[in-house]
Amino acid sequence: MKKIGLIGGMSWESSMVYYKIINERVREVLGGFHSAKCIMESVDFAEIEKLQHKGDWESLNSIMVESARNLENAKAELIILCTNTMHLCSEQIIKNVNIPFLHIANATGSKIKLNNIKKVLLLGTKFTMEKEFFGEILRNDFDIEVIIPNEIDREIIHGIIYNELVHGKIESASKRVYQRIIDDSIKNGAEGVILGCTEIPLLIKSSDVNIPVFDTTRIHAESAAEFALN
Ligand code: GLU
Repeated sequence: MKKIGLIGGMSWESSMVYYKIINERVREVLGGFHSAKCIMESVDFAEIEKLQHKGDWESLNSIMVESARNLENAKAELIILCTNTMHLCSEQIIKNVNIPFLHIANATGSKIKLNNIKKVLLLGTKFTMEKEFFGEILRNDFDIEVIIPNEIDREIIHGIIYNELVHGKIESASKRVYQRIIDDSIKNGAEGVILGCTEIPLLIKSSDVNIPVFDTTRIHAESAAEFALN
């Protein structure tokens, strides 16, 4: 089994879920007392969030590269970054380490393709919905059409992530807002929805929605476990 290196803390609410899913998957496959070999480099999200909203991606790149190098030095054999948004730094990470990096959008694209879905709604932070790093991979590498909510709804989705979900607050009123936005997208032809922020699955479950749900936390964590086991 390979040792998985996780860059976490963005937020720790979802890093915890990654740790659980990876270990569950390893136990499911290997049985008995087996658990995952892994190591987490967990950052202080207050620093990250401040730099994100300042638009200082150079400093964020440096922090992510340093975290990835620490994991490599600690003998991790693959790296996963436990957040969608911070994949904006993935190019720099890949350039600066010599171990495989499992990109969250690649893992998600493969899963959507398996389900034969052609058009999806992408929900996440404004960074994830508005910058091209996620949608581009789905479009170019998987031939999947990606739609995002309108500007007002993007603002609302982003606000709920930063003001509630990363603090572990789960509000039923916010769930209803997300459900309304997903329902609107179905009218615009969405056949599936990507929960493209690792905290959204804390709020929205498959049973809350009428179209297939792609939970990036679960997909990414399970693909890391598969990689480690193969
Ligand atoms: N975990 C979130 C994501 O998947 C948002 C927090 C962050 O900015 O890293 O995008």
